[in-house]
Amino acid sequence: MDLRTDVAIIGAGTAGLAALAKVRKAGKSFLLIDGGELGTTCARVGCMPSKVAIQVAEDFHRRHRFQRVGIEGREALRLDSAEALEHVRDLRDIFVDRVLAGTTDDMGEAFMEAQARFVEPTVLHVDGRIVRAGAVVIATGSRPLVPQAWQPFAERILTSDSIFEQEILPGSVAVVGLGAIGVELGQALQRMGVAVTGLDRLDSICGLSDARVAQTATEIIGKEFPLWLGHAAEVTQDGDGLRVTSGEQSVVVEKILASLGRTPNVKGLGLEALGVALDSRGVPAFDPHTMQIGQLPVFIAGDVTGSEAILHEASHEGRIAGTNAAAHRVRAFRRLTPLSIAFCDPNIASVGASWGDLDEAATAVGEIRFGPVGRALIMGSNRGLLRVYAERNSGKLLGASMVAPRGEHLAHLIAWAIERGLTAVDMLRVPYYHPAIEEALQAAIHVLVEDMGTHSPDSPELQPLTP
Ligand SMILES: Cc1cc2nc3c(=O)[nH]c(=O)nc-3n(C[C@H](O)[C@H](O)[C@H](O)COP(=O)(O)OP(=O)(O)OC[C@H]3O[C@@H](n4cnc5c(N)ncnc54)[C@H](O)[C@@H]3O)c2cc1C
Repeated sequence: MDLRTDVAIIGAGTAGLAALAKVRKAGKSFLLIDGGELGTTCARVGCMPSKVAIQVAEDFHRRHRFQRVGIEGREALRLDSAEALEHVRDLRDIFVDRVLAGTTDDMGEAFMEAQARFVEPTVLHVDGRIVRAGAVVIATGSRPLVPQAWQPFAERILTSDSIFEQEILPGSVAVVGLGAIGVELGQALQRMGVAVTGLDRLDSICGLSDARVAQTATEIIGKEFPLWLGHAAEVTQDGDGLRVTSGEQSVVVEKILASLGRTPNVKGLGLEALGVALDSRGVPAFDPHTMQIGQLPVFIAGDVTGSEAILHEASHEGRIAGTNAAAHRVRAFRRLTPLSIAFCDPNIASVGASWGDLDEAATAVGEIRFGPVGRALIMGSNRGLLRVYAERNSGKLLGASMVAPRGEHLAHLIAWAIERGLTAVDMLRVPYYHPAIEEALQAAIHVLVEDMGTHSPDSPELQPLTP
């Protein structure tokens, strides 16, 4: 017999579960369908295990500072990579269990563990059964991209899916693709004792479009392991290893970490049955404010959209898609201020408008280097550059780019300020505790206000009580 439901959600990842929460709240019937490994990409192989590895790597790396501050015996410290990887997997299991306990474990027949395929826009084929839904949410996520040409070397190719499944870490790795995942994992591996070479065909890392920040980021990260930028990597067999070539440079490594990006999970979904155009990756066009595909009662959310793979965006999109899938009327919702953070050391982050999209003449910039920043010096991390952008005329904050110690926190503050429509002067009229890393932001905003060229005799930090 056919199954009928108000909303069918394909994919029990972050986006699908966020959609589910909204459908539940609206009191609609639902079916959640997932045919892959459960527990979300974030908890299983993504955000969480990668941050555990980064933490281990940072703890071990800290020993390089010990001698300078009078702590003896650092030479005796060793990293047991088998234990370290076991620790990553142990914490990973905790994160996954938590996701499952709150969701698919307790859903009974409302959860179908199978692949879904569209037969019509609201009719799905699932595990030999037909599901007829009032609306459908597609939230099938993405997977690591591995070039077809690398298939002959498959045994020596690692991805973020497989790296933490290794018994021990390899001796040498070429990290091909230096977006956030490549830089984070590359630095963590290097700090855990792997000889890492990083390669990207672009001239900058982590998608930085501000050339000054990009250069600083490349200099800092490049001090830890070689970064070969500006050439597509070529891979050939070389004895027992792989030779990876970038322009004139080449290295033989045990393994390659493919971090060239992620590809939307659309294979086998039968999206052709939607009757709308699909792009070269097989993804249909959608409205980013409603997450609706054309005029169909079909919505899409998360990594499968092919946009940047960021967890809070997947969640936000899932909430929009779920809300609209459960409603009589499709509504458009505001999107969040762009915010992306690479948890390398120092953090690399971009907030709001990217430098490449701004009109330079109409934009004021506040720039600060972290060399003299007190808290950064105390932490032994006084390297980096923060650039904050604002409308030259109004002072309204537009965006920022940074390679900064604890940049994750600065990036949040700036994103929240942009969300609230604050100006540079507004940002001077808030407290900054001493000695906090936020003082770097305060200093950058002072420079920004100066760059705006507003020559007022008043001190901008002081807000008169009476006009
Ligand atoms: C190494 C790494 C580090 C990351 N770090 C961060 C970070 O620090 N911060 C951050 O914001 N983001 C980070 N991300 C990105 C973040 O994890 C993703 O953006 C997010 O998990 C995407 O969620 P999703 O719901 O779209 O997909 P997923 O969680 O992958 O869910 C998709 C689900 O769909 C299922 N599915 C697929 N096809 C079908 C089908 N045909 N039928 C039924 N089910 C199907 C899959 O089994 C899966 O369960 C990282 C990602 C990686 C890989």
